Amino acid sequence: MTAQTFIGIDLGGTKIEIIALDQHGTEHYRTRTNTPKAPTPQEQYSAILESITQLVTQCEKDLSISNTPVGIGIPGSESKDTQLIKNANTTCLIGKPFRNDLSHYLKRPVQLENDANCFALSEAIDGAGQGKTSVFAVILGTGVGGGWVINQQLIIGPNHICGEWGHNPLPWHTDNDHPMQTCYCGKQGCIETYLSGPGFSQQTQLQFQLAMNSREIISQRSCHLLAQQSYEFYVDRLAKSLASVINVMDPDVIVLGGGLSNIDSLYEDVPKVWGKYVFSDSVKTHLRKNQYGDSSGVRGAAWLNR
Ligand SMILES: [Zn+2]
Repeated sequence: MTAQTFIGIDLGGTKIEIIALDQHGTEHYRTRTNTPKAPTPQEQYSAILESITQLVTQCEKDLSISNTPVGIGIPGSESKDTQLIKNANTTCLIGKPFRNDLSHYLKRPVQLENDANCFALSEAIDGAGQGKTSVFAVILGTGVGGGWVINQQLIIGPNHICGEWGHNPLPWHTDNDHPMQTCYCGKQGCIETYLSGPGFSQQTQLQFQLAMNSREIISQRSCHLLAQQSYEFYVDRLAKSLASVINVMDPDVIVLGGGLSNIDSLYEDVPKVWGKYVFSDSVKTHLRKNQYGDSSGVRGAAWLNR
């Protein structure tokens, strides 16, 4: 085992994954377990803490290491004011001092970030954004999130919302983009209501009366004209939403993650369109697919201590 090892944990609604990386990003250990279920939120919370502790203990035993730095990614965030978890879809974490409790269980400091930030860090350090100064990483999945990394450092910001572009309004609205839908955040016309998987499906239903999920739209667009049109609307909306990010941050590279990042044609089609919206005579920003797929979250969690 090399001198420096980093443990990353990805806590999801169904699985908890653990990884151990050396300083070069080589993986030395990886395993996963089911996220514990329990009759009450308090019991589930305790079971999650115990499960993570067991995973870390077993990992360190198998690798003959100890007191390894631990980072964890969760689908939620920690309030800077209270250190309590908010906006988590593993709801037993909400209102809990999770990082402090885990730190107590593991007898060491623990770094914690939301899963979009872990994804961004992973792709910026040794993924699709490797070697680039400014990397904006985007999740296009059941929700739309993002994270921003400059010089391999995660940008957090005083409100801890850096990269949350999914709840900005869709820019440069056209008639095609109406009617606006209400987002779970309470606003209307958020980017997420167009570009998330459920948003893409809902827009296709509203505008073309096609009841298809995003996967079906993509697989049927070669033979279904309306599915193709809906895809073209999606490309235009993604292009203008990313253009508004480029106008503010001007990143070297934008890395896509989440289920919709698997639509390979986006990497050609979106850059053909975004020049219309970017305030520049040419656009040198790269649009790339993530390198590590579902593993980016757990790798980025390990890199929180790098
Ligand atoms: Zn919203």
